[in-house]
Amino acid sequence: MANIVVLGAGIAGHTAALFLRRRLPKEHQVIVVSPKDVYNWIPSNIWVGVGVMSAKDVVVPLQPVYQRMNIAFVQGRAVEIHPQGSASRASPYVVAEQTGSQRTGQRQEIPYDYLINASGPKLNFAATPGLGPDGFSQSVCTFEHAERAATAFLQCVERMRSGQSQTMLIGVGHGTCTCEGAAFEYVLNVEFELRRHNVRDKARVIYITNEAEIGDFGVGGLHLKRGGYVVSSRIFAESLFAERGVEWITGAHVKQVEAARVTYETLDGQTHEQGFDYAMLLPPFTGVGIKAFDRQGVDITSEMFAPNGFMKVDADYTKKPYAQWKASDWPRFYQNPQYQNIYAVGIAFAPPHPISEPRLSASGTQISPAPPRTGMPSAIMGRVVANNIADLVLNRQHPPRTASLAELGAACVASAGANWFSGTAASMTMYPVVPDFERFGDYGRDLKFTFGDIGSAGHWIKKLLHYMFIYKAKARPLWWMIPE
Ligand SMILES: Cc1cc2nc3c(=O)[nH]c(=O)nc-3n(C[C@H](O)[C@H](O)[C@H](O)COP(=O)(O)OP(=O)(O)OC[C@H]3O[C@@H](n4cnc5c(N)ncnc54)[C@H](O)[C@@H]3O)c2cc1C
Repeated sequence: MANIVVLGAGIAGHTAALFLRRRLPKEHQVIVVSPKDVYNWIPSNIWVGVGVMSAKDVVVPLQPVYQRMNIAFVQGRAVEIHPQGSASRASPYVVAEQTGSQRTGQRQEIPYDYLINASGPKLNFAATPGLGPDGFSQSVCTFEHAERAATAFLQCVERMRSGQSQTMLIGVGHGTCTCEGAAFEYVLNVEFELRRHNVRDKARVIYITNEAEIGDFGVGGLHLKRGGYVVSSRIFAESLFAERGVEWITGAHVKQVEAARVTYETLDGQTHEQGFDYAMLLPPFTGVGIKAFDRQGVDITSEMFAPNGFMKVDADYTKKPYAQWKASDWPRFYQNPQYQNIYAVGIAFAPPHPISEPRLSASGTQISPAPPRTGMPSAIMGRVVANNIADLVLNRQHPPRTASLAELGAACVASAGANWFSGTAASMTMYPVVPDFERFGDYGRDLKFTFGDIGSAGHWIKKLLHYMFIYKAKARPLWWMIPE
């Protein structure tokens, strides 16, 4: 019998657990450890954050799904990994601190034969004083945050209805943030909703980002085919903003958020201030802070995890200049190099380097996006690793499957409005996510599969995907046929 433990019931971990269960006979155990008892389809938090969906539309209770699927669930937070076991326990195990019950805080040791770390990001609001829902800005990273963001947003709408002008500041709250695509999508939705509420003339909408140019999205920007022409994502994004009267501030590191004001540094080293009535600023991400110990109890966290807290896998982490970065630096199997029975997928794995060119401001502050690990590749990694582990457990002679971001494409559909008829979406596809200049020349991506457009079709796809992915997360009949 094999014990497979999955840390995290998010997009990567939940997908991995479902596929493991599908592949493995009952005598093998699949255990999910996650702090919340619900799955959150995070991409739709954008719609919760403007009040057009509620939290219950974007979450799936885990217990009924796991009971039906015969997956064990520990509601808790993994805090330690003991990959060599310890003096008191011969085999490898994780330590979880229980959450969400009377046993909150109690430690539980969970042995494993295979471990998948899919614990996602820590939302590091503390990196910027005043950032986040406990400070002065909103977030849409969790469904709880998004609900609070919606309340604050709708209060602004009411003030505009009573004749007051409001400044809406949307973007990222630190120079090293990732997830610019999510902030971009949110600003389009805010702008759309302001028009729907007939108060657009009362609002100044400003996008603030650490990208040197909008349209970078943490993937170094892209060139896309549109109506027979090749355009840069900068032109594409700027046109969308210009048409909608959205202003933008680029190359910005938010240094402090106060009531109604942010202070930020730009790439030229200058410091500026921007007032706001409503701010939604995404935080930077780090790993969730899991520690690792060897058999003697010596802390080996720095061997297993990168300094940013994400887990090292089969990537090339050699420090080298930007010009020498290669697509082949990126991991393919998501397997820890020292402990081959440990994997890290989704946001939890440590990227070898950024995708966008790293930039320092004139005064030495880092202001450039960290690499995104978006939903589609995260779920694919979860499936691929689950299938590889199942092959090992079942002794199947199958060459290991791969899911390198330099070999995977991604589709980004940035909606503007959730309504079936009035909503539109800016849709972009790219292949591969990590540009490969050896295979695809000047642009680094295959232009046959890298394109963008705005219209209703992308919007309908996005809306349809919401329902399909919620269906899949509930493991309803034939769920596995829905692609990631
Ligand atoms: C607002 C927003 C909108 C987005 N929109 C899109 C989009 O339109 N398209 C797209 O492709 N991507 C989108 N993304 C990105 C996408 O949500 C992420 O790529 C995806 O959620 C990553 O999956 P994950 O499983 O790695 O992490 P998560 O989905 O964050 O899951 C991590 C899981 O681990 C759990 N966990 C945390 N700590 C621990 C611990 N110590 N032990 C065990 N478990 C733990 C968490 O509770 C959670 O269940 C968006 C992101 C945001 C924030």
